[in-house]
Amino acid sequence: MNIILFGIQGAGKGTQARAIALALGIPVFEAGAELRKLALLETPEGGMIKRLINQGKLVPPGIVMTRVAGFLDETTTLDGVVFDGVPRSLDQAIALDEMLERKHRTSIAVEIRISEQCSTERVLQRRQCSRCGTAFLPEYHHHTCNLCGGLLIKRVDDTAEALQIRIANYQSRTLPVLEYYRKANKLITINGEQLVLDVTKDIFTQLSPLLHTEKDIEQLLFQSSPDNQVSI
Ligand code: AMP
Repeated sequence: MNIILFGIQGAGKGTQARAIALALGIPVFEAGAELRKLALLETPEGGMIKRLINQGKLVPPGIVMTRVAGFLDETTTLDGVVFDGVPRSLDQAIALDEMLERKHRTSIAVEIRISEQCSTERVLQRRQCSRCGTAFLPEYHHHTCNLCGGLLIKRVDDTAEALQIRIANYQSRTLPVLEYYRKANKLITINGEQLVLDVTKDIFTQLSPLLHTEKDIEQLLFQSSPDNQVSI
């Protein structure tokens, strides 16, 4: 099962994508992170992507969907993928659906809903790990990430000006995509203004009847935490 996460900036898509991926043992495709990697390339395309991201504008769909197609061709994606940040427009949603259908794969959309005010407060206050991308709110006082030790930084596009454009894009380009999945009976909505663990729990409660998994909600929750992963 492919799980497509939606939510305005700061809704917690990245955090929940990692939790779901850990619990289900499937990879995450994080569109923003993939594009930030391309933006580092010293090519005309890299420069263009960097400018668009920094201004809060959307990158042309062809660039994003080419990355998605390449990712879906990898065998590690056979059991499903958690999509974070794509599709962001109707043309991307239709292209993704076609790619998944060609591979006989099913999908469900999950909207993590928060208010615009909550989005602004969270985004303007958050810091992000420069290594693994985990987001931290001001309650976390340290300078390094508690998961990987990376340095915490402020994202260049987490400014009031860029955020205004990103929220406007979400409303004009991405909300119609939610409507598209709602009409197809493939959308579940979760209240994102709760503790992180409660959001994860609500997601698993609504998702688990659709997932062909033996695990109950408590097992899924336990496995969704990076602290509980089996490692040597
Ligand atoms: P995010 O990390 O999801 O907030 O994405 C950061 C930035 O990457 C966005 O503001 C856009 O500039 C770009 N971006 C991410 N995903 C997409 C997408 N699906 N389509 C176009 N641009 C995207």
